[in-house]
Formats: sequence, structure tokens, C-alpha cells
Amino acid sequence: MSPRVLDCKAQIRAVRRLAPEILEVDLSMLEPGDFPFEAGQWVSVPLGPKTVRAYTIASTPAGRSQITLCADVTPGGIGSRWFRALAPGQVVEFKGPTGGFVFNRADPRRPLFVAEEIGIVPIHSILWDLYQTGFGRSATLIYWARDPSWLAYDAEFSLLARRYPPFEYLPVVREAVGAWQGEKGEAPDVVERRVASIAGLIAYVSGGGEMINEVRQVLMAKGMDRKAVKWEKFW
Ligand SMILES: Cc1cc2nc3c(=O)[nH]c(=O)nc-3n(C[C@H](O)[C@H](O)[C@H](O)COP(=O)(O)OP(=O)(O)OC[C@H]3O[C@@H](n4cnc5c(N)ncnc54)[C@H](O)[C@@H]3O)c2cc1C
Repeated sequence: MSPRVLDCKAQIRAVRRLAPEILEVDLSMLEPGDFPFEAGQWVSVPLGPKTVRAYTIASTPAGRSQITLCADVTPGGIGSRWFRALAPGQVVEFKGPTGGFVFNRADPRRPLFVAEEIGIVPIHSILWDLYQTGFGRSATLIYWARDPSWLAYDAEFSLLARRYPPFEYLPVVREAVGAWQGEKGEAPDVVERRVASIAGLIAYVSGGGEMINEVRQVLMAKGMDRKAVKWEKFW
């Protein structure tokens, strides 16, 4: 059963810039001191009488007294401005945890994760949680960005793949700059090329609605059941 939604307070501990417009923020929980959540869930930040923005927990449930959020601040609206202004020492309020984009360990199917840019955040939490707690089965991640500088967690996933060989990591960019070694193209094309069989597969897709639809179309054309594609639409 999912933990219930709580009114929370937390203090900002650290702010890091993972990429020019991608910020990661560590928060120490004040209320409750231990925040119960499942990997893949998000918090809802009230920013006005009828305005809220969702930010997904990038860290894993192994740490419940300190959580990490991660945002792309380019959209530039009220949420991005709030995130950009976060500074150590500040106390913030939010509600959570919320969301059903979580991994079911009892499901024997082989997971395929597909993320578009900042849509990686729930998958970051889910994958680290799985492998750090002895998942041991195979899983594939297709992590797409417009260019390598937007793959904020590229080094971490390369490390995860080295540490846990059943995990297959496929970074993909539209525009290869520098010494890019990974694939080139769009996320749905890579799903088309790389997914040879949908037998025993379950997909977790996160990012923009357009990419989610296209990936779902590709998988369904290969014979996948619509319900075997779980998704989290950020925008
Ligand atoms: C379940 C859920 C979880 C989310 N988790 C995260 C998260 O962990 N990190 C994060 O950065 N954002 C996340 N978002 C998006 C976030 O809630 C805000 O929508 C985002 O920060 C933009 O808010 P804004 O007020 O700055 O811009 P707005 O004024 O609300 O948006 C401006 C426009 O940008 C679009 N947009 C929003 N985000 C993006 C994007 N990344 N790329 C392209 N267009 C975009 C919006 O659809 C809108 O058309 C999540 C959204 C949902 C629904």
C-alpha cells in the first residue's frame, strides 16, 4: 500500500548544478522527520492559491530523513523560478508522497525504462533502489536528450551498469557533440531498433507526452499490450 499524503516541511541542505539548467537539491526533513515514500513518487509544492508544481524524488527510500529533488529550470514559469531560488538554510513546505509510477517487484516481467531528459528523475530513484536492494534481474534504460550536456545522470548510470552487469544502459542523443560514444537519434527510434522482442517485457516511460505516445505506438506495433506501458507525463 502506498504511504499516505502528508503535509511536510524540510530545510534545504545543498544545491548542485548538474548541467547548466538542471539543479539538484538536498532537503533535510523537519516534519515528518522520516518521510515514507516509494521510489518513483513525487511531492507537490504549493506556489499560489490554485497553483502547484510536482517535483519527483530523485533519491531512494533508503534515505528517508534527507531527500533529493532535481529540476530542469528552463521552462521558466513559477515552478522553475521557485526551484532556481532555493538556497541552503531555507525552509520549504510541500505535500507528499504522491504518484503511482512505481516499480512492482512482484512482477516477473523484464523492465524497459525510457526517459526523456528530466523525465529521468523517477527512473533514477527506481533503478538505484532496485539494484541497491538486490534486484539482480536484467533491466534496460534508454536515456534520451537533445545533446550529451542534458544527460545529467549519464556518469551515474554508466557506473550503475559497471557495478550491476544485468543492468543495460543505452544513452541516446539527437546531436552528438564532443567524443560521444553512445547512440544517436530519437528515443522512439532507439526503442524500435533495440527492442527485438516484447515477450515478457514491461515498459516504464517518463518525459513529455509526445515522446510517451510515440514510444507506446512503437511498442504496440511490436505487439505489446497498451497496459504493459506505464508512463509518467511531466509536460
Ligand atoms: C508527476 C510530475 C512529476 C514531475 N517531476 C518533475 C521533476 O522531477 N523535475 C522537473 O524539472 N519537473 C518535473 N515536473 C514538471 C514540473 O511540475 C513543472 O511543470 C516544471 O518545473 C515547469 O514548471 P514552471 O512553472 O516553471 O513552468 P510552466 O509555466 O508550468 O510551464 C511552461 C511550459 O513548459 C512545459 N514544460 C514543463 N516542464 C518541461 C520540460 N522539462 N521540458 C519542456 N517543457 C516543459 C509545460 O508543459 C508548459 O507548457 C513534473 C510534473 C509532473 C506532472
